[in-house]
Amino acid sequence: MSVLTGRTALVTGGSRGIGRAIAERLGGDGARVAVHYGRDETAAKQTVAAIEAAGGSAFTIGVELGRPGDAEALWEAFDRHADGVDILVNNAGIGTSRALGEIDEQEYDRVFAVNVKAPHFIVKHGLDRLRDGGRVINISSGLARTAVMPDKMAYAMTKGALDVFTRDLSKVLGPRGITVNSVAPGIIDTESNAGFLRASDEAWAQAAAISALGKVGTPAAVADVVAFLASDAGRWVTGSWVDATGGSLT
Ligand code: NAP
Repeated sequence: MSVLTGRTALVTGGSRGIGRAIAERLGGDGARVAVHYGRDETAAKQTVAAIEAAGGSAFTIGVELGRPGDAEALWEAFDRHADGVDILVNNAGIGTSRALGEIDEQEYDRVFAVNVKAPHFIVKHGLDRLRDGGRVINISSGLARTAVMPDKMAYAMTKGALDVFTRDLSKVLGPRGITVNSVAPGIIDTESNAGFLRASDEAWAQAAAISALGKVGTPAAVADVVAFLASDAGRWVTGSWVDATGGSLT
């Protein structure tokens, strides 16, 4: 028996990048995993196939987040496969690299809709599905606290808002034995970062130098932190902002 045997996990944006690593890790730990995606069903199916190939169990849920009614649609899709969730990982997120002088209202609204509004309403509409003793894990960013990049200000603001949601929600769900935490990655080697990370050896070295450990992070390293919080070993940690940046203080 594995540590999460008998539990059900839902990982938003579980089809690619950090979310995929989290989905695979929780599946490997014995949870049945709902692999959510927005548009790329093929990637979500590949994640499910990887979990199953490792002996686990998973299914896909496709719902575009950032639109009115998205959270209800997500749970309706979930309900077709499972009757409750023990571990909810709000991972799906988008970035913006437009500084204060360049960002327009449309882009600002979009990044807040996906990164802040969606997790908020996924929890609101999932309250009856979340099992007592469960976990909510919100994927934040080191940019909310430890590092400052002016072109990422609006994005960092979304993660700051998500962290307040984490803190306050931990009080709301505490009486039910549900822990709520933020996990904050630094620069991670994902497809979405490939453009700048792999542009040159210098770009990679600069990104690596930001962390105290002198490396670019991997999705699996973030998934390990999530797996700890999801496990019984993490039961006394709640309302926390867990730094998974490799020590990025810039
Ligand atoms: P990614 O590779 O771009 O993958 C994003 C995932 O979220 C995909 O599964 C994608 O599904 C889904 N998604 C995105 N927008 C969506 C939408 N509107 N509706 C539904 N699904 C949507 O992302 P990542 O780099 O792994 O980042 C994952 C999380 O970690 C994000 O919250 C991000 O802010 C945070 N983070 C990342 C880094 C980093 O360096 N990568 C650092 C700190 C924090 P589809 O492809 O089907 O749309």
